[in-house]
Amino acid sequence: MITRQDFDSPERPTWCPGCGNFGILNAIKMALAEQNIAPHEIVMVTGIGCGSKLPHYIKVNGLHTIHGRPVAVATGARLANHGIQIMTVHGDGDGYGMGLAHLAHAARRNIGIVDVVQNNRVYGLTKGQYSPTSDPGMRTPTSPEGAIDRPVPPLALAITMGATFVSRGYPGDLRHLAWVIGQALQHPGYALVDVLQPCVTFNRPSAYDFYNPRVYKLEDAGHDVTDKTAAWERAFEWGDRIPIGIFYVEKGTPSYEEQVPALRAGPLAKQPLTKLSPAQVQALQAEVI
Ligand code: SF4
Repeated sequence: MITRQDFDSPERPTWCPGCGNFGILNAIKMALAEQNIAPHEIVMVTGIGCGSKLPHYIKVNGLHTIHGRPVAVATGARLANHGIQIMTVHGDGDGYGMGLAHLAHAARRNIGIVDVVQNNRVYGLTKGQYSPTSDPGMRTPTSPEGAIDRPVPPLALAITMGATFVSRGYPGDLRHLAWVIGQALQHPGYALVDVLQPCVTFNRPSAYDFYNPRVYKLEDAGHDVTDKTAAWERAFEWGDRIPIGIFYVEKGTPSYEEQVPALRAGPLAKQPLTKLSPAQVQALQAEVI
């Protein structure tokens, strides 16, 4: 039996005390254990940001890549071996700013990636600049007179781009967040998990005090996860009431990897290199390793 402790790493997180990333880390461990996924059966791909340090703090196969590109790297990993789970973990600057196009294309392809976005609505690692999901009017070093841009609506965008699983969690409710991530891990195609991640250092107005009285669970509100229009409308709900849970699930749509002819014989990583001679294989290995 897999337990949370199987994912413990000797590295200690360098996050600020009270950062929402601690809850996200714990929720991911809980979800993996509950889904009986062993550390060697998952690859975690991250970008750049406070939360993207996460593979250092959990015992899984980890790839700490470059800013905005973890979904692209994860797509390659999934095509190389769709027999294991692929999870991306990155912040809103990484996922909804520089990497926004990757989200859109992963969603329309329906590639089997669980895409966890730590949405703290600020750039934390670089000391508090406004981000793609910051509130208009937010004063930061790069918006001294208040941010002008309207925020990116990630859930509505994902639904519009054809995502087949769209959800949101909150580390202030760890059990619920672990459940949402677990549902995403069970989904065969692209699954977005937007996480309301309190940044207690650079976005105090949007920390636990803000979210605790506002979040409500969609499953308690009678939301129909198969109703795309209702999901899209809920995705814009923000203010006194903020929904968390599963917004939209589309069943029966084949994943990208199910449709790639070269993958019909099984994961590429497990297919024999029958068309190459041993010498050609050696030459290839020498080039890339
Ligand atoms: Fe967390 Fe914000 Fe500190 Fe980064 S700056 S570790 S996001 S609290």
